[in-house]
Amino acid sequence: MNQLQQPGHDHSSAYLIRRLQELLGPAGVITEASEQEPYLRDWLGKWHGKVSVVVRPANTEETAAVVQLCHATHTPIVTQGGNTGMSGGATPDDSGAQVILSTTRMNRIREVDPVNNTITVDAGVILAHAQEAARQAERYFPLSLGAEGSCTVGGNLATNAGGIAVLRFGNMRELALGLEVVLPDGRIWNGLRGLRKDNTGYDLRDLFIGSEGTLGVITGAVLKLFAQPHARATAWVGAASLQQLVSLLTRVRARCGERLVAFEMMSARSLELVLEHVSDTRAPLESKTAYNALIELSDTEDTGLQAMLEDVLGQALEEELISDAMFTSNQSQTAALWKIREGISQAQVRAGKAIKHDIALPISALPLFVAQAEQALADSGMTTDLINFGHLGDGNLHFNVLLPASTEYEAMKSATAAFNRLIHDLVINFNGSISAEHGVGQLRRDELKHYKSPLEMELMLRIKQAFDPNHIMNPGKLL
Ligand SMILES: Cc1cc2nc3c(=O)[nH]c(=O)nc-3n(C[C@H](O)[C@H](O)[C@H](O)COP(=O)(O)OP(=O)(O)OC[C@H]3O[C@@H](n4cnc5c(N)ncnc54)[C@H](O)[C@@H]3O)c2cc1C
Repeated sequence: MNQLQQPGHDHSSAYLIRRLQELLGPAGVITEASEQEPYLRDWLGKWHGKVSVVVRPANTEETAAVVQLCHATHTPIVTQGGNTGMSGGATPDDSGAQVILSTTRMNRIREVDPVNNTITVDAGVILAHAQEAARQAERYFPLSLGAEGSCTVGGNLATNAGGIAVLRFGNMRELALGLEVVLPDGRIWNGLRGLRKDNTGYDLRDLFIGSEGTLGVITGAVLKLFAQPHARATAWVGAASLQQLVSLLTRVRARCGERLVAFEMMSARSLELVLEHVSDTRAPLESKTAYNALIELSDTEDTGLQAMLEDVLGQALEEELISDAMFTSNQSQTAALWKIREGISQAQVRAGKAIKHDIALPISALPLFVAQAEQALADSGMTTDLINFGHLGDGNLHFNVLLPASTEYEAMKSATAAFNRLIHDLVINFNGSISAEHGVGQLRRDELKHYKSPLEMELMLRIKQAFDPNHIMNPGKLL
């Protein structure tokens, strides 16, 4: 029996805090309510919880010591990275019994290996810092998303984050080669292998990716690097329908191949919302179109990218597949377009209360899905202000419904339940997914149970039981 499990030990929060302070020193333990506050609410301001203590271990060994103590005292752990998640996965419940384990002090770039084309980092490294470390070694780490200045690599792994370059480079699962994980009993699993081939049995790494803190604490990762892009071409196009954008995507992909890195879609209403709520933004095109797309090509050297994009879009204009297009000619114009795309989440927060749907469908099914969803919403008689945008190239739609900021809690709750059922039923009819990239967290936990087959739920619960029999890792999330 572990010393901590001996009968007579005081397992109260005072004991826990005292032991944590012994393990981590004062810099690693936050007990002051005002200092804890930023950790207790999520980025959207949708969830809020309570804890006895926030711990900030500085390295893997300290993390292991904390988890061992929590294991022995049956203390539930909510692992938190940059706290930018969209599904409430990093917010504790309001029991006060949980502990937040923040990874933000684990922020070392451990190694860049330009020959193996890999970077090894602590899980608390901010995504933008990992990108910068790769850049300094004249390599490229392609995961890119609106929260990259504050989200962490560990959070990206735990949510299998996607973002704007999945079309070309894949999501986080495809970018990770190896992981280091502190298991729920405090043992350290060293899977930090930078291998592109390894067929030695079940893939434990892939179980932790997307597990949202429910199977262990990711403390380190080996990630793939790529050649740095030195040339890019960016354009904004307007089209009358989503079907036209899907046809354009097919064409651009056929013509530009791997050079196509992003194909982002925004409805007219999404654009309008950004222009209204995000400063220093203006409409890229003079004409207003039902749908817009931000398209980006990149390559390691300039092989006439701009001409290629102009050619394919010029032809689409001639054939009236699209209504208008503009090309950027410098970095600041390109940044202005991306500011619009990345401003949609912020604009929604400022504009009201959004009921979010982060869904994935086969790309070919998107236009019909949207048409049927719009019709079903109209038929339902519910007031709708649709904010429809997403990573079209990945078949990932953010199909959101905006309600006024003044909407009361109970009204919001019933509208959310009604909209979710309507949209998600349709998603399942189209063989889609109810969570494309934001994970399940507490937002989609009940929906997961509703839509996953009993067999899939049983298998997932068995995996959880095998890794975390005491259910101390992020209880109440995902499963
Ligand atoms: C403006 C904005 C834009 C975004 N755009 C995108 C986008 O385009 N694509 C996309 O996929 N996502 C997007 N997101 C959400 C995205 O999931 C997160 O930004 C990011 O991946 C989460 O990282 P984080 O460090 O903030 O994790 P947190 O929010 O802290 O945690 C998220 C989940 O991961 C778990 N977790 C965190 N760290 C660890 C760890 N080390 N070990 C085990 N579990 C851990 C937590 O328990 C929680 O369940 C966006 C968010 C914002 C705010």
